[in-house]
Amino acid sequence: MSYSYTGNIVHLDLSSGEYWIEHPPESFYRTYWGGRALALYYMLTQMKPHTDPLSPENLLIFATGILAGVPAPAVPRYTVCAKSPLTGAEGEAEAGGWWGPELKRAGFDALIIKGASSTPVYLWITEGRLEIKEATYLWGKDTGTTQMMIKEELAEDKVRIAQIGPAGENLVRFANIVNELGHFNGRNGLGAVMGSKKLKAIAVRGTKNLDFYDKEKIKKITKEITQRVMVNPLSRGLHELGTPGTVRGFYEAGCLPSFNWTTGYFPEGENLTAETLNQTILKDTKGCYACPIRCKRVVAVDEPEFKVDPLYGGPEYESIVSLGSICGISDLRYVAKANELCNRYTLDTISTGMVIAFAMQCYQEGFLTPEDTEGTELTFGNKEALLELIKKIAYREGLGELLSQGSYRAAQKIGKGAEKFIHQVKGQEIAMHDPRLKTGVGLSYALTDYGPDHMKAPHDPFFKDKEAVGVKEMSGLGILDPVSPTELGEKKVTLFKLLDLYWTVFNILGVCDFGYVPRSVGTMDELLEIIRSATGWKTSWFELMKVGERSINMARLFNAWEGFTPQDDTLPQVFFHPFPDGPLAGELAINREDFQRAIRLRYELMGWDPNTGLPTPAKLIELGLDWLLEKEEELREKRKRDI
Ligand code: SF4
Repeated sequence: MSYSYTGNIVHLDLSSGEYWIEHPPESFYRTYWGGRALALYYMLTQMKPHTDPLSPENLLIFATGILAGVPAPAVPRYTVCAKSPLTGAEGEAEAGGWWGPELKRAGFDALIIKGASSTPVYLWITEGRLEIKEATYLWGKDTGTTQMMIKEELAEDKVRIAQIGPAGENLVRFANIVNELGHFNGRNGLGAVMGSKKLKAIAVRGTKNLDFYDKEKIKKITKEITQRVMVNPLSRGLHELGTPGTVRGFYEAGCLPSFNWTTGYFPEGENLTAETLNQTILKDTKGCYACPIRCKRVVAVDEPEFKVDPLYGGPEYESIVSLGSICGISDLRYVAKANELCNRYTLDTISTGMVIAFAMQCYQEGFLTPEDTEGTELTFGNKEALLELIKKIAYREGLGELLSQGSYRAAQKIGKGAEKFIHQVKGQEIAMHDPRLKTGVGLSYALTDYGPDHMKAPHDPFFKDKEAVGVKEMSGLGILDPVSPTELGEKKVTLFKLLDLYWTVFNILGVCDFGYVPRSVGTMDELLEIIRSATGWKTSWFELMKVGERSINMARLFNAWEGFTPQDDTLPQVFFHPFPDGPLAGELAINREDFQRAIRLRYELMGWDPNTGLPTPAKLIELGLDWLLEKEEELREKRKRDI
């Protein structure tokens, strides 16, 4: 008897329009558990190395985790994977909301798409069936219009829709996928992969009830967690302020990323805080499937000459900073409007803000001229230019064509040393957390297989002293002592190796990072009990972290096939210099040698060869990945020749 999964994985060839359903055995689910681990299995077994990410040969995989559909707090997420058109590495992005649970209730654990349609289509999935529907009439429409038209056509208001807007259709390399207009598979340009397949949307409607091993226990734990949401300071803070709650601390400390990372000092930061947002433009809060925390913002502006539509939700912390202070903009109305436009067109807000800030610095330093910008004064703080450029990027018009390729490619094209103004790892723009104050996050930026990610591990301050929640609540993993957020020695590397494995499990199972320790109200024990009660499997954190480790090693080999080497596990140059001004002036440069030593130690702790960065044969055998040994040997020989 299978609990918490359907046993059905649907494979669709969009070139022929044919599909078939695979029924993997329980051992397959117990080995990969869903999400990125399941997706990587298919990417490694069915894709050829050096596949063009925008070609029909790229696989686009929508994979739920084993917890999707469990009526418990903060477990609604699902994963989309493909080779990324932005980085050329494993591409991956998780989204919350309802789409993942709905896919499972419609009869499938995962959807694996290859090929490409010759004309625009969308998929309609319900009651274990898949239908390809004509979507020429939707092509070019923004996301709000598309959602409304699909619901009308299907005459089904409860349908959940994952879709792309014009940026995905136009193959912008950092286009994302949006679910129900408010939950994003951001980063890595997976919306462009969807666009390259002429796949406008996937509408799902679930009508089946999923079976769980011990429903009463899930109910009991859910009740207990829900009762604590408004008592626990972390979950209460998320509910009341959302992720924008982070702005104030960074702004006051002088580490709010600003003016294309030239400073952390943003004197107008008060205008971007969650408190200001709550007092001025907040209209409502929203949540995800079965989650009592409801941390998401809905904002609105209704002025005669300026409107922000609440249909598109509201900005998270990352979007406020990337579309705000990074571009030198402190008008929250414009940040909210920019966020709305990114949602309408399906642009990743982090990369969008970062490419625009890069262009602003290029303009300021004379690397771009008024001729390049079609007369626009592209100065930091120009909020009208921000909105104008977002549209141009989505439609790849004027300067938007260059920026639609991402800052790494744009800098190469501009030349003359413009690379010094970009801040990226593996070709993807970094997120809005400064590793000089959180060296563990710096390790995540450098090492994450799908490019820099601020959500790959919990952040350093959760372990800063004896009273910190990570130290108090995670002794079950052997975390007993605090570690300073800014140190980068052996203790930090060891801690973050452990945390990387722990949070990778979240991505695989579909757990939201804001639901459980150290970030929020649910405990490690409660999460484990939910997993056991859903599946009936007598699992442990040991087994689960091995699954996380398995996926990391699979991704490591996938990237090695694509040509990534230890040189790609690095940080942008700016972090090896101290803060130039503000309260932190002259402080906190990361020491290059410490950083190199940390990376090397991390390789060794992971069981990777410190010179080639490849998993050793013993590590692959330990993780049950012996089917990858031949590939590893081939890569190892090649690396030896290259070194
Ligand atoms: S904590 Fe917020 S983002 Fe996470 S599942 Fe709950 S409502 Fe969604």
